[in-house]
Amino acid sequence: MEIISSIIEMKKLAAHEEKSGKKIGFIPTMGFLHEGHLSLVDLLRDCSDLLILSIFVNPTQFGVGEDLENYPRNTTRDIELCRERGVDIVFIPQEKDLYLDDSSTFVSEEIASKKLCGLARPTHFRGVTTICAKLFNLCRPSFVALGQKDAQQIVVLKRMIRDMHFPIEVKVGPTIRESDGLAMSSRNQYLNSSQREDALLINRALEAGKSLVVKKGITNADRVKAELMSILRSGRFLRINYAEVVNCETMRVESEIQPGRSMLVVAAWVDSVRLIDNVKL
Ligand code: AMP
Repeated sequence: MEIISSIIEMKKLAAHEEKSGKKIGFIPTMGFLHEGHLSLVDLLRDCSDLLILSIFVNPTQFGVGEDLENYPRNTTRDIELCRERGVDIVFIPQEKDLYLDDSSTFVSEEIASKKLCGLARPTHFRGVTTICAKLFNLCRPSFVALGQKDAQQIVVLKRMIRDMHFPIEVKVGPTIRESDGLAMSSRNQYLNSSQREDALLINRALEAGKSLVVKKGITNADRVKAELMSILRSGRFLRINYAEVVNCETMRVESEIQPGRSMLVVAAWVDSVRLIDNVKL
């Protein structure tokens, strides 16, 4: 396994591999890796000749007052996990190389990114699409793996890839959970034990909502949302940002659930930690 931090070296190597007909698989991450990230390595192994995983805590996707400074980092451990999992290249670029001092260009998706998380974090997705465009140009992937946990990010990035004509196929891996159902997230480590109890309500609410649809055949979105809200409101430290029924492909809010096409999405703060999760219906 190779560790590359120079963007020039990364660009040269990827262009060379691409030219010689190799298919590159790419997993963009912000590090502090867990099984959710590593499952994406497995997802791309068979279709890729070269597997690149990037680690970069991207400042432009954090808003003012968010957790950029405190975002958990452990590069030594991340590198070891990548080695064990069979990553070929860990790309750890530097901020000053990716964002020049007088950098003045952003890539922005203008529809799907404006809803849900985009309302609470108005510059977040612009940061995500901008950094991904830069990383795609440097790493030249044929395949990019994204996790279902970040459902809106998938929709936004798929649209950006399509609209900007990146020759990339997106593969989506399932949400990987702790044994108690909490979706794995680098931010979970901020939670103390009572906050973690509240965080569990998110998955519990989503499962209860899903069960109304799957077992009782309910398709009225308000009825299902009411169930989610009543469970989420029982948390002492939990503040709901949103709990919605949306279309999986567009993230548009729906009043009538369409099994196979709709999903439940939740974002909530547990104390100061913002968590998101979703379940397909
Ligand atoms: P992040 O490091 O949070 O930017 O995440 C990098 C990638 O890992 C994104 O595609 C995420 O959707 C994915 N990911 C994060 N957590 C999980 C999880 N629990 N299950 C599956 N994928 C995940």
